[in-house]
Amino acid sequence: MQPVSKLERRIVTAAEQALDRQKYVSPLDVLTGLGWVPPGLVTDWRQGRRPTLEAIAAVSPERLADTLEIFHRWTASRGLRSSEVEYLSAMRDRRPLRFTADGTPAVELAYRTHWTPAAMTDQQREKLTAKKSKAPDLVVVLPAKDFTCTSCGQTSGDMLTMEEAGPLCLTCADLDHLEFLAAGDAAMTRRAKKASRLSAVVVRFNRSRKRYDRQGLLVERAAIEQAEQECLSDEDARARRRDRDRVRREAADETFQYELAASIVHLFPGCPPERAEAISLHTGTRGSGRVGRSAAGRALDPDAVTRAVVASVRHEDTAYDEMLMNGVPRDEARERIRTDIDRVLKSWR
Ligand SMILES: [Zn+2]
Repeated sequence: MQPVSKLERRIVTAAEQALDRQKYVSPLDVLTGLGWVPPGLVTDWRQGRRPTLEAIAAVSPERLADTLEIFHRWTASRGLRSSEVEYLSAMRDRRPLRFTADGTPAVELAYRTHWTPAAMTDQQREKLTAKKSKAPDLVVVLPAKDFTCTSCGQTSGDMLTMEEAGPLCLTCADLDHLEFLAAGDAAMTRRAKKASRLSAVVVRFNRSRKRYDRQGLLVERAAIEQAEQECLSDEDARARRRDRDRVRREAADETFQYELAASIVHLFPGCPPERAEAISLHTGTRGSGRVGRSAAGRALDPDAVTRAVVASVRHEDTAYDEMLMNGVPRDEARERIRTDIDRVLKSWR
Protein backbone atom coordinates (compact mmCIF):
# COMPACT_ATOMS: atom_id res chain seq x y z
CA MET A 1 0.00 0.00 0.00
CA GLN A 2 1.29 3.44 -0.92
CA PRO A 3 0.61 5.83 1.98
CA VAL A 4 -1.10 8.87 0.54
CA SER A 5 -2.06 11.19 3.37
CA LYS A 6 -0.20 12.29 6.45
CA LEU A 7 -2.78 10.48 8.61
CA GLU A 8 -2.27 7.26 6.64
CA ARG A 9 1.46 7.48 7.13
CA ARG A 10 1.04 7.94 10.87
CA ILE A 11 -1.42 5.04 11.13
CA VAL A 12 0.84 2.69 9.17
CA THR A 13 3.85 3.67 11.31
CA ALA A 14 1.95 3.06 14.56
CA ALA A 15 0.65 -0.29 13.28
CA GLU A 16 4.06 -1.47 12.01
CA GLN A 17 5.70 -0.55 15.31
CA ALA A 18 3.12 -2.44 17.38
CA LEU A 19 3.37 -5.48 15.10
CA ASP A 20 7.15 -5.43 15.38
CA ARG A 21 7.10 -5.11 19.14
CA GLN A 22 4.41 -7.63 20.12
CA LYS A 23 3.86 -9.84 17.01
CA TYR A 24 0.23 -8.71 16.77
CA VAL A 25 -1.53 -5.42 16.31
CA SER A 26 -4.98 -4.19 17.36
CA PRO A 27 -6.94 -1.00 16.62
CA LEU A 28 -6.30 0.00 20.25
CA ASP A 29 -2.52 -0.24 19.64
CA VAL A 30 -2.87 2.11 16.69
CA LEU A 31 -4.90 4.64 18.68
CA THR A 32 -2.39 4.50 21.54
CA GLY A 33 0.48 4.83 19.06
CA LEU A 34 -1.14 7.90 17.54
CA GLY A 35 -1.41 9.38 21.03
CA TRP A 36 -5.18 9.65 20.77
CA VAL A 37 -5.94 7.56 23.84
CA PRO A 38 -3.61 8.05 26.84
CA PRO A 39 -2.64 4.80 28.64
CA GLY A 40 -3.93 6.09 32.00
CA LEU A 41 -7.42 6.57 30.58
CA VAL A 42 -7.26 3.16 28.91
CA THR A 43 -6.68 1.69 32.38
CA ASP A 44 -9.71 3.63 33.69
CA TRP A 45 -11.81 2.26 30.83
CA ARG A 46 -10.61 -1.31 31.38
CA GLN A 47 -11.42 -1.03 35.08
CA GLY A 48 -14.96 0.17 34.41
CA ARG A 49 -14.54 3.85 35.26
CA ARG A 50 -15.13 5.06 31.68
CA PRO A 51 -18.08 3.85 29.60
CA THR A 52 -16.43 3.45 26.18
CA LEU A 53 -13.10 3.77 24.40
CA GLU A 54 -14.70 6.43 22.21
CA ALA A 55 -15.37 8.51 25.33
CA ILE A 56 -11.66 8.72 26.21
CA ALA A 57 -10.39 9.35 22.66
CA ALA A 58 -9.08 12.83 21.87
CA VAL A 59 -10.67 12.70 18.40
CA SER A 60 -14.24 12.43 17.05
CA PRO A 61 -16.04 9.13 16.35
CA GLU A 62 -15.84 9.97 12.61
CA ARG A 63 -12.07 10.28 12.82
CA LEU A 64 -11.94 6.93 14.66
CA ALA A 65 -14.04 5.30 11.92
CA ASP A 66 -11.69 6.68 9.23
CA THR A 67 -8.73 5.33 11.17
CA LEU A 68 -10.26 1.84 11.37
CA GLU A 69 -10.85 1.89 7.61
CA ILE A 70 -7.27 2.90 6.82
CA PHE A 71 -5.97 0.32 9.32
CA HIS A 72 -8.00 -2.44 7.64
CA ARG A 73 -6.67 -1.51 4.20
CA TRP A 74 -3.19 -1.84 5.64
CA THR A 75 -3.88 -5.25 7.31
CA ALA A 76 -5.17 -6.52 3.94
CA SER A 77 -2.13 -5.21 2.06
CA ARG A 78 0.17 -6.92 4.61
CA GLY A 79 -1.79 -10.18 4.35
CA LEU A 80 -2.29 -10.34 8.14
CA ARG A 81 -4.60 -12.92 9.72
CA SER A 82 -7.40 -11.93 12.09
CA SER A 83 -8.39 -13.39 15.48
CA GLU A 84 -11.23 -12.29 17.69
CA VAL A 85 -10.12 -11.39 21.21
CA GLU A 86 -12.36 -10.94 24.24
CA TYR A 87 -12.03 -7.61 26.01
CA LEU A 88 -13.31 -8.07 29.55
CA SER A 89 -13.65 -5.34 32.11
CA ALA A 90 -11.80 -5.57 35.42
CA MET A 91 -15.09 -4.98 37.22
CA ARG A 92 -16.12 -7.89 39.38
CA ASP A 93 -18.62 -9.24 36.87
CA ARG A 94 -15.96 -9.10 34.10
CA ARG A 95 -18.46 -7.67 31.65
CA PRO A 96 -17.35 -7.18 28.02
CA LEU A 97 -15.81 -3.76 27.40
CA ARG A 98 -17.62 -1.34 25.09
CA PHE A 99 -15.68 0.51 22.42
CA THR A 100 -18.34 2.78 20.94
CA ALA A 101 -21.40 4.55 22.28
CA ASP A 102 -23.82 3.06 19.74
CA GLY A 103 -22.24 -0.40 20.05
CA THR A 104 -22.81 -1.48 16.42
CA PRO A 105 -21.79 -5.19 16.50
CA ALA A 106 -19.61 -5.01 13.37
CA VAL A 107 -17.66 -2.03 14.73
CA GLU A 108 -17.28 -3.57 18.19
CA LEU A 109 -15.98 -6.74 16.51
CA ALA A 110 -13.54 -4.70 14.41
CA TYR A 111 -12.07 -3.24 17.59
CA ARG A 112 -11.83 -6.67 19.23
CA THR A 113 -10.00 -8.13 16.24
CA HIS A 114 -6.24 -8.56 16.57
CA TRP A 115 -4.00 -9.06 13.54
CA THR A 116 -1.03 -11.42 13.33
CA PRO A 117 1.52 -12.26 10.60
CA ALA A 118 0.39 -15.00 8.20
CA ALA A 119 3.64 -16.84 8.95
CA MET A 120 2.55 -17.47 12.55
CA THR A 121 1.35 -21.06 13.16
CA ASP A 122 -2.28 -21.65 14.13
CA GLN A 123 -1.08 -22.95 17.47
CA GLN A 124 0.91 -19.78 18.21
CA ARG A 125 -2.04 -17.66 17.12
CA GLU A 126 -4.48 -19.55 19.37
CA LYS A 127 -2.15 -19.26 22.33
CA LEU A 128 -1.77 -15.53 21.82
CA THR A 129 -5.52 -15.03 21.44
CA ALA A 130 -6.25 -17.01 24.60
CA LYS A 131 -3.66 -14.98 26.50
CA LYS A 132 -5.10 -11.67 25.34
CA SER A 133 -8.67 -12.81 26.13
CA LYS A 134 -7.91 -13.70 29.74
CA ALA A 135 -10.04 -12.02 32.39
CA PRO A 136 -8.09 -9.09 33.86
CA ASP A 137 -7.21 -8.74 37.53
CA LEU A 138 -10.04 -7.73 39.82
CA VAL A 139 -9.60 -4.21 41.13
CA VAL A 140 -10.35 -2.90 44.61
CA VAL A 141 -10.20 0.82 45.36
CA LEU A 142 -8.99 2.52 48.54
CA PRO A 143 -11.44 5.43 48.63
CA ALA A 144 -10.36 9.01 49.30
CA LYS A 145 -13.38 9.54 51.54
CA ASP A 146 -16.14 7.49 53.19
CA PHE A 147 -18.62 5.83 50.87
CA THR A 148 -22.00 4.15 51.30
CA CYS A 149 -22.29 0.57 50.05
CA THR A 150 -25.08 0.24 47.47
CA SER A 151 -25.93 -3.24 48.74
CA CYS A 152 -25.91 -3.15 52.57
CA GLY A 153 -26.13 0.64 53.02
CA GLN A 154 -23.25 0.83 55.52
CA THR A 155 -20.88 3.77 55.35
CA SER A 156 -17.16 3.21 55.74
CA GLY A 157 -13.76 4.30 54.52
CA ASP A 158 -12.59 0.75 53.89
CA MET A 159 -11.83 -0.66 50.46
CA LEU A 160 -14.54 -0.97 47.84
CA THR A 161 -15.25 -2.46 44.42
CA MET A 162 -17.10 -0.54 41.74
CA GLU A 163 -20.26 -1.94 40.26
CA GLU A 164 -22.53 -0.32 37.72
CA ALA A 165 -24.91 0.64 40.53
CA GLY A 166 -22.08 2.22 42.56
CA PRO A 167 -19.60 1.22 45.25
CA LEU A 168 -19.85 -2.13 47.01
CA CYS A 169 -18.11 -2.89 50.31
CA LEU A 170 -15.76 -5.88 50.45
CA THR A 171 -18.19 -7.85 52.62
CA CYS A 172 -20.96 -7.52 50.02
CA ALA A 173 -18.45 -8.24 47.23
CA ASP A 174 -17.39 -11.48 49.00
CA LEU A 175 -13.78 -10.36 49.10
CA ASP A 176 -13.50 -9.62 52.81
CA HIS A 177 -11.81 -12.92 53.64
CA LEU A 178 -8.75 -11.77 51.71
CA GLU A 179 -5.77 -10.16 53.39
CA PHE A 180 -3.96 -7.05 52.20
CA LEU A 181 -0.38 -7.47 51.04
CA ALA A 182 1.30 -4.10 50.52
CA ALA A 183 3.25 -3.56 47.30
CA GLY A 184 7.02 -3.25 47.51
CA ASP A 185 8.28 -6.81 47.65
CA ALA A 186 8.17 -8.18 44.13
CA ALA A 187 8.93 -11.79 45.10
CA MET A 188 6.25 -11.88 47.82
CA THR A 189 3.70 -10.29 45.51
CA ARG A 190 4.37 -12.69 42.66
CA ARG A 191 4.36 -15.78 44.88
CA ALA A 192 1.28 -14.79 46.90
CA LYS A 193 -0.71 -14.00 43.78
CA LYS A 194 0.24 -17.31 42.24
CA ALA A 195 -0.77 -19.24 45.38
CA SER A 196 -4.10 -17.46 45.84
CA ARG A 197 -7.21 -18.83 44.19
CA LEU A 198 -8.81 -15.39 44.32
CA SER A 199 -6.94 -12.10 44.28
CA ALA A 200 -7.53 -8.44 43.56
CA VAL A 201 -5.28 -5.49 42.85
CA VAL A 202 -5.68 -2.62 45.33
CA VAL A 203 -5.41 0.89 43.86
CA ARG A 204 -5.74 4.43 45.19
CA PHE A 205 -6.37 7.60 43.23
CA ASN A 206 -3.36 9.88 43.11
CA ARG A 207 -4.69 13.43 42.80
CA SER A 208 -1.52 15.11 41.64
CA ARG A 209 -0.74 12.48 39.00
CA LYS A 210 -4.44 12.08 38.13
CA ARG A 211 -4.28 8.32 37.95
CA TYR A 212 -4.78 5.21 40.04
CA ASP A 213 -1.62 3.89 41.71
CA ARG A 214 -1.19 0.28 42.76
CA GLN A 215 -1.02 -0.12 46.54
CA GLY A 216 -0.82 -3.88 46.83
CA LEU A 217 -2.88 -7.03 46.51
CA LEU A 218 -5.73 -8.73 48.31
CA VAL A 219 -4.94 -12.44 48.54
CA GLU A 220 -5.81 -15.44 50.67
CA ARG A 221 -4.02 -15.53 53.97
CA ALA A 222 -2.78 -19.04 53.23
CA ALA A 223 -1.23 -17.69 50.03
CA ILE A 224 0.66 -15.04 51.99
CA GLU A 225 1.89 -17.69 54.39
CA GLN A 226 3.00 -19.93 51.53
CA ALA A 227 4.78 -17.02 49.85
CA GLU A 228 6.42 -16.17 53.19
CA GLN A 229 7.66 -19.74 53.48
CA GLU A 230 9.14 -19.51 50.01
CA CYS A 231 10.83 -16.21 50.88
CA LEU A 232 11.97 -17.23 54.37
CA SER A 233 15.64 -17.50 53.52
CA ASP A 234 15.60 -13.75 53.28
CA GLU A 235 16.02 -11.82 56.53
CA ASP A 236 13.77 -8.92 55.50
CA ALA A 237 10.94 -11.36 54.81
CA ARG A 238 11.21 -12.63 58.39
CA ALA A 239 10.97 -9.08 59.74
CA ARG A 240 7.92 -8.35 57.60
CA ARG A 241 6.31 -11.53 58.80
CA ARG A 242 6.78 -10.44 62.42
CA ASP A 243 5.14 -7.12 61.56
CA ARG A 244 2.15 -8.80 59.97
CA ASP A 245 1.77 -11.19 62.91
CA ARG A 246 1.79 -8.23 65.30
CA VAL A 247 -0.92 -6.41 63.29
CA ARG A 248 -3.04 -9.56 63.26
CA ARG A 249 -2.66 -10.04 67.02
CA GLU A 250 -3.54 -6.41 67.74
CA ALA A 251 -6.66 -6.69 65.63
CA ALA A 252 -7.91 -9.83 67.36
CA ASP A 253 -10.52 -9.68 70.12
CA GLU A 254 -9.70 -12.89 71.93
CA THR A 255 -12.65 -13.16 74.32
CA PHE A 256 -15.10 -12.67 71.50
CA GLN A 257 -13.28 -15.21 69.34
CA TYR A 258 -13.33 -17.78 72.11
CA GLU A 259 -17.09 -17.35 72.62
CA LEU A 260 -17.77 -17.44 68.91
CA ALA A 261 -15.77 -20.65 68.44
CA ALA A 262 -17.79 -22.22 71.29
CA SER A 263 -21.07 -21.15 69.64
CA ILE A 264 -19.99 -22.59 66.30
CA VAL A 265 -19.19 -25.97 67.86
CA HIS A 266 -22.49 -25.84 69.77
CA LEU A 267 -24.54 -25.18 66.60
CA PHE A 268 -22.39 -27.39 64.38
CA PRO A 269 -21.06 -30.27 66.50
CA GLY A 270 -19.55 -31.89 63.38
CA CYS A 271 -17.41 -28.88 62.58
CA PRO A 272 -13.76 -29.68 63.44
CA PRO A 273 -12.66 -27.54 66.45
CA GLU A 274 -9.62 -26.08 64.61
CA ARG A 275 -11.95 -25.03 61.82
CA ALA A 276 -14.31 -23.34 64.29
CA GLU A 277 -11.28 -21.50 65.67
CA ALA A 278 -10.18 -20.39 62.22
CA ILE A 279 -13.68 -19.13 61.42
CA SER A 280 -13.94 -17.18 64.65
CA LEU A 281 -10.45 -15.73 64.21
CA HIS A 282 -11.38 -14.44 60.77
CA THR A 283 -14.85 -13.31 61.81
CA GLY A 284 -13.82 -11.68 65.05
CA THR A 285 -11.02 -9.51 63.71
CA ARG A 286 -11.42 -5.97 64.88
CA GLY A 287 -12.21 -3.32 62.33
CA SER A 288 -13.65 -5.66 59.76
CA GLY A 289 -17.27 -5.31 58.70
CA ARG A 290 -17.75 -9.03 58.95
CA VAL A 291 -20.88 -10.63 60.26
CA GLY A 292 -19.33 -11.64 63.57
CA ARG A 293 -18.60 -8.02 64.41
CA SER A 294 -22.16 -6.85 63.94
CA ALA A 295 -24.39 -6.28 66.98
CA ALA A 296 -26.18 -9.58 66.31
CA GLY A 297 -22.85 -11.39 66.02
CA ARG A 298 -21.67 -9.97 69.33
CA ALA A 299 -24.78 -11.31 71.04
CA LEU A 300 -23.93 -14.61 69.32
CA ASP A 301 -27.25 -14.77 67.58
CA PRO A 302 -27.51 -18.22 65.89
CA ASP A 303 -28.32 -16.62 62.52
CA ALA A 304 -25.21 -14.44 62.67
CA VAL A 305 -23.06 -17.42 63.72
CA THR A 306 -24.52 -19.46 60.86
CA ARG A 307 -23.77 -16.66 58.39
CA ALA A 308 -20.13 -16.65 59.52
CA VAL A 309 -19.94 -20.43 59.03
CA VAL A 310 -21.63 -20.24 55.62
CA ALA A 311 -19.19 -17.54 54.48
CA SER A 312 -16.27 -19.73 55.48
CA VAL A 313 -17.68 -22.85 53.79
CA ARG A 314 -18.32 -20.81 50.64
CA HIS A 315 -14.69 -19.78 50.34
CA GLU A 316 -13.02 -22.92 51.69
CA ASP A 317 -15.17 -25.87 50.63
CA THR A 318 -16.62 -24.82 47.28
CA ALA A 319 -15.35 -23.58 43.92
CA TYR A 320 -16.86 -20.15 44.63
CA ASP A 321 -13.56 -18.20 44.65
CA GLU A 322 -12.35 -19.86 41.45
CA MET A 323 -15.67 -18.93 39.84
CA LEU A 324 -15.30 -15.28 40.87
CA MET A 325 -11.72 -15.29 39.60
CA ASN A 326 -12.92 -16.63 36.25
CA GLY A 327 -15.52 -13.92 35.93
CA VAL A 328 -18.68 -15.83 36.88
CA PRO A 329 -21.16 -13.23 38.20
CA ARG A 330 -21.65 -13.46 41.96
CA ASP A 331 -25.37 -14.35 41.86
CA GLU A 332 -24.75 -17.17 39.42
CA ALA A 333 -21.77 -18.45 41.41
CA ARG A 334 -23.86 -18.48 44.61
CA GLU A 335 -26.60 -20.42 42.85
CA ARG A 336 -24.12 -23.02 41.58
CA ILE A 337 -22.62 -23.70 45.04
CA ARG A 338 -25.88 -23.71 47.01
CA THR A 339 -26.11 -27.51 47.27
CA ASP A 340 -22.41 -27.80 48.19
CA ILE A 341 -22.93 -25.46 51.14
CA ASP A 342 -26.06 -27.29 52.26
CA ARG A 343 -24.20 -30.59 52.14
CA VAL A 344 -21.34 -29.35 54.36
CA LEU A 345 -23.68 -27.70 56.87
CA LYS A 346 -25.81 -30.83 57.04
CA SER A 347 -22.77 -32.97 57.77
CA TRP A 348 -21.74 -30.60 60.57
CA ARG A 349 -25.16 -30.23 62.23
ZN1 LIG B 1 -22.01 -3.73 51.72
